[in-house]
Amino acid sequence: MLTCQDVNKLMAQYMEKKISLHQRILFKLHLWMCEHCSQHLEQFEKNADVMKKRPPTEAPKDLSERLGEVFEEYQICPICQKEVRFVELHAKAERQILEIIRRDHPEWIEKNGLCPPCLEYYRQELERQQ
Ligand SMILES: [Zn+2]
Ligand SMILES: [Zn+2]
Repeated sequence: MLTCQDVNKLMAQYMEKKISLHQRILFKLHLWMCEHCSQHLEQFEKNADVMKKRPPTEAPKDLSERLGEVFEEYQICPICQKEVRFVELHAKAERQILEIIRRDHPEWIEKNGLCPPCLEYYRQELERQQ
């Protein structure tokens, strides 16, 4: 049989599930019979919960958000003329897609870029044509 002292010593290991099945059974058996220790475990579990719930320390969010705003430039997509957060040309864009874009927008050149929705539109356009 475990004594109250044994149970107290095992408590942390019990919480981390590091005790053997045999010890576990003895541990449970003791808790079942001992009001004092079962209350102690309850308290122990509560404390462990509090530890877990405490949010990890991290850099204040709004600072990085503010920095993001500074660096984010709005640009006009040369295709749809919409203001977009970034105009990017996917270098991976298939040749055929570029050709369809140029057919609709003869003045457009690759390095002008286009917004992701436009690229998506022309990608679907290409699929329709195939
Ligand atoms: Zn006890
Ligand atoms: Zn666009």
